[in-house]
Amino acid sequence: MWNVDGHEWAIAQLRSNIRANRVAHAYLFTGPPGIGKSLLALRMAQALTCERQTGDPCLQCRTCRRVERGNHPDVRVAGMETQAAAAKADEAARQKELKIATIREWQRDLALRPYEAARRVLILRDAERLSEEAANAMLKTLEEPPEFATLLLVAHSNELLPTIVSRCRVLRLRPLSREQVAAALRARGATPERAVELAAWSGGRVGWAITMLADETAQAARREQLAALIALREQDLSAGLQWAEQRAKEYRAGEQETVLAWLELWQSWWRDVVYVAAGCDEAVTNVDRRAELAALARQVKPAEALAFWQQIVMTGQQLRENVNPQLALEHLVLHLPRAR
Ligand SMILES: [Zn+2]
Repeated sequence: MWNVDGHEWAIAQLRSNIRANRVAHAYLFTGPPGIGKSLLALRMAQALTCERQTGDPCLQCRTCRRVERGNHPDVRVAGMETQAAAAKADEAARQKELKIATIREWQRDLALRPYEAARRVLILRDAERLSEEAANAMLKTLEEPPEFATLLLVAHSNELLPTIVSRCRVLRLRPLSREQVAAALRARGATPERAVELAAWSGGRVGWAITMLADETAQAARREQLAALIALREQDLSAGLQWAEQRAKEYRAGEQETVLAWLELWQSWWRDVVYVAAGCDEAVTNVDRRAELAALARQVKPAEALAFWQQIVMTGQQLRENVNPQLALEHLVLHLPRAR
């Protein structure tokens, strides 16, 4: 019982690998954040160690339950979070990469024989953040891991060294359909309206949607953030510059993900404007604001909306490339198609 929403093809492949005794040394799960990669990797770790050894995790035996809680000695999860937990707070905030020291530590760990289960499994999250040095240090382990070990790499994107990717069996997880996400949400108690709304917001990232469903505060925050972004168009430029300053401050304080989430939200809004202008209403993300979108699509030319959308995408890239955040964000705000 995998208890995973969607990704049926990936589950079928993993199950058949186990049953045919053809488990790879290393698997790489890729796809956008919140799509269910880590959950699938956890389920694979359970399937590999489950006491019943049927090719599926039973989720009931002691081993499955301990792996689920993160306290089985033969299944280890490592990533930015575990690396940060081992560092001092100020240093943790500055960490942007998985370091070679982290990799060396779990390599030592992986070399030990399993204590209890049939295999040792390492789930390495945030693999796209491996420093080049750390990635190179991994190559040997990926090539010749101990026979009893399996590596499960999880990465948000395919921006990994090709030498790493080529040594893994790659499972590229795709977004689920809106209907699949909505069904998963209804199964967890969402009203039909809320399920439709969150499924549209999610872009097929079912894990993101499930987390959001349980978090009323996060839902409210998203609504407020979008309202603030929409308002910038009507307000004078100083409000926009203030917004840029605030985000730049957050960015420098280590809250990069928060700032990138703002940009993603803004991107979704202007993409919606383009969609509505083009008559593709069913593709709209912000379904709770259709009336405003329709009004905006009448005021702004589609080419202008598209250009600003591209500008937001570019700003996100610049931030990731360590451009001065304040300059990049101010530049963005200056390009906002303003109300006349
Ligand atoms: Zn089990």
